[in-house]
Amino acid sequence: MSNTASPRIAIIGGGPGGLVLLNVLARRGIAATLYERDESPAARGQVGSCLDLHKGSGQDAIKGAGLYDEWLKASRAEGEERIVTDKTGVAIIHHRPAATGKPEIDRKILRQLLVDGAPTGSIKWGHTFVSAAPVGDVWEVSFADGSKVTADLVVGADGGRSRVRPLVSDAQIVHTGWTTVELAFDSRARPDLAARLGSGTFFAIDEHKRIVAQFTGDARIHIGATFPAPESFVVPVDNAAAAKSLVLAQFEGWAPWLRDLIACAEDGTIHQRPLTILPVGHTWPHKKGVTLIGDAANLMSTFAAAGANIAMLAGLELGQALATASPGRWDEHVAQFEVKMCRIAGEAAAQSDKNMKEVLGDGGAQMFAARVKRNLLKLGIEPYVG
Ligand SMILES: Cc1cc2nc3c(=O)[nH]c(=O)nc-3n(C[C@H](O)[C@H](O)[C@H](O)COP(=O)(O)OP(=O)(O)OC[C@H]3O[C@@H](n4cnc5c(N)ncnc54)[C@H](O)[C@@H]3O)c2cc1C
Repeated sequence: MSNTASPRIAIIGGGPGGLVLLNVLARRGIAATLYERDESPAARGQVGSCLDLHKGSGQDAIKGAGLYDEWLKASRAEGEERIVTDKTGVAIIHHRPAATGKPEIDRKILRQLLVDGAPTGSIKWGHTFVSAAPVGDVWEVSFADGSKVTADLVVGADGGRSRVRPLVSDAQIVHTGWTTVELAFDSRARPDLAARLGSGTFFAIDEHKRIVAQFTGDARIHIGATFPAPESFVVPVDNAAAAKSLVLAQFEGWAPWLRDLIACAEDGTIHQRPLTILPVGHTWPHKKGVTLIGDAANLMSTFAAAGANIAMLAGLELGQALATASPGRWDEHVAQFEVKMCRIAGEAAAQSDKNMKEVLGDGGAQMFAARVKRNLLKLGIEPYVG
């Protein structure tokens, strides 16, 4: 079966990468089934709050998925506002929205858009991948509920802690030495804080730590507080008071209003995301019938805002590789896709790693503000500097 013109494709994971792949294949008349462990699209808060899709990656992917107009309608140009401060909370740079062409979209809206774009019945919710084993020329895929399916091609799109990855690679994720705690609150409860943050992304950076604040379309403010911590450092997220006091202890001496961004988080909104990465430039020897996309293949730090964009680009590239394969040669196309995508993702991961070390290293807010300014000037936009 493995040389059939149209392989049976099992995509594991319904994040941005897997969902783009499913849509790209569907637009080109290729059937595939996506298996997602969540019980429904709304089952869990997506990591982070919103995303800007970049030209050349996320935007190309959404176009290739046939959903560009829907994405444009659902995006928010005001989400492009940028403020950078140090621990005093005084702006070093403040860029008000202009046409940078990178509007923000809330993650849950992006997911819904990609789910709605997929053919009816092509997503199997509540399917947790457990293992896959070769049986002759095909793969038998097993799920936690005991069900099994047979596939010619298994695509691991199951994120940084991928259970598909060990089928092709021994690579292990590595802790970077920082952890992020996500928290959220309703902006209407604290208009004073909301007024200071602008309506896009706010960054306070100092002492090898960072607080990021972002709005979503439902008037909520999402905070990511990043600070040095060993892998063993656990934030008691189920005990909001204890969790907040532990995080606040990391930001001693920061402006009171910055500390308030943590103090006023609502119960049930606190999540810890240790900053982990795969070795930069991760590749694997091609194995017939299994491949990886997105974080499963190239988990990188969040400091180039590239992970979801790269995952979506990988979904596009793999979909196109399969769609253009001549009869019986899809496996060669998958192998070529892997070489190309690992190169692109490797470059993004290296940039992300460099940015992380600069921003959380000695560069701090000044270096980051200078980079934001350079990027805006490249676009012909003169940012306001406070
Ligand atoms: C705090 C934070 C901020 C970020 N900000 C940005 C940003 O601004 N821009 C950007 O481009 N990127 C950003 N990223 C990175 C981005 O979120 C990821 O790179 C992106 O989500 C990866 O997409 P993916 O489809 O590969 O995997 P994921 O989004 O991780 O999706 C994997 C899916 O697989 C499912 N799954 C997992 N295991 C199984 C299993 N065993 N069986 C079935 N299903 C399974 C999961 O439920 C999930 O739905 C950020 C990340 C974080 C943590």
